[in-house]
Amino acid sequence: MQGKKKVQITALAGDYIGPEIMAAGLKVLEVVGENGRFDYELHEVPFGGAAIDQTGEPLPQETLSACQQSDAVLLAAIGGPKWDHAVKRPEAGLLEIRKKLNLFANIRPTVIEEAMQQYSPLKNGKPVNFVIVRELTSGIYFGTPRQLDENYALDTMRYTKEEVQRITRSAFELARKRKKHVTLVDKANVLATSKFWRRIVAEIALTYPDVAYDACYVDAASMKIISAPQQFDVILTENLFGDILSDEAAEITGSLGTIPSMSLGSSGPALYEPIHGSAPDIAGKGIADPISMIRSVAMMLANSFDRADLVAQITTAINAVISKQIVTPDLGGNASTTEVTDAIITTIKESR
Ligand code: ATP
Ligand code: MG
Repeated sequence: MQGKKKVQITALAGDYIGPEIMAAGLKVLEVVGENGRFDYELHEVPFGGAAIDQTGEPLPQETLSACQQSDAVLLAAIGGPKWDHAVKRPEAGLLEIRKKLNLFANIRPTVIEEAMQQYSPLKNGKPVNFVIVRELTSGIYFGTPRQLDENYALDTMRYTKEEVQRITRSAFELARKRKKHVTLVDKANVLATSKFWRRIVAEIALTYPDVAYDACYVDAASMKIISAPQQFDVILTENLFGDILSDEAAEITGSLGTIPSMSLGSSGPALYEPIHGSAPDIAGKGIADPISMIRSVAMMLANSFDRADLVAQITTAINAVISKQIVTPDLGGNASTTEVTDAIITTIKESR
């Protein structure tokens, strides 16, 4: 592509199984991009515990700069028992990078396609495909005042209009690329912050006449995720509710090791990562499921680079390989990380 600047991608492999699954994700990226199909420049830099070991800091300046100058950031997983008693924690790097890149929206897909039905505890045989858009930078986790006394404790759930507006727009924009349906999940029968969200979201919904909008209390939503998940397309919700519902939604797929996520800011790069942690218990054994990382790469290609064509190749290959039972132990198989990755790559190559 003459005269066109290559896209810049920063990869943060991190700790324990982090480097194992990042290698898998990057191998798939390389193959789908080969022969000029997708040109990119890769920057692999230390982050988390690995960065603490090298530099004393979980997010060294060099790593932050690489991320800020990139079009997208891939992260595998950080942290683990090695740094339990360290002065600085790997997780502090994650909080800092979210803040520095202003990542206010966390988006997790819940997809149960045919190949994955057997792993879902729902067993209703119907495909599921919705996403949760969770506000990530505000709400009760960050609100002040906050107090913990012998006979009294206090947390504060606080939102500003601007915080609600920006994530609402992200949710509606995302819905436009999907089934065009946004459901606000809240507790507007009780909470002032929820009443506030409803007012603002309803106003913005009017400016998206092509997108259906409704609202649902969080208690009802948590039941529907189990009983009727097909009703959802984009679930928009605040930080605490989103934290809880995201884990519930992951559980109905029955496969922690296959789920990606993305975090968005208003400008600057988005960050793509598996929803699971660094899995210290299986690190170094070569049996980590690489699908969560490979799907994170696909999510990046879809969202940051509009390459639905490449995403389709990856997704089709993943489903084919799962259907052939070439899967790691978390999905009941005995294939290794490398065997799964190579099977996916072979399938991609055969498909073009
Ligand atoms: P964190 O606090 O960082 O979320 P965690 O303590 O919740 O970490 P995870 O690292 O997410 O734990 O792992 C939870 C369980 O799931 C572990 O038994 C781990 O081995 C398993 N697991 C996580 N990711 C994978 C994967 N990609 N492949 C196979 N098993 C995995
Ligand atoms: Mg966890």
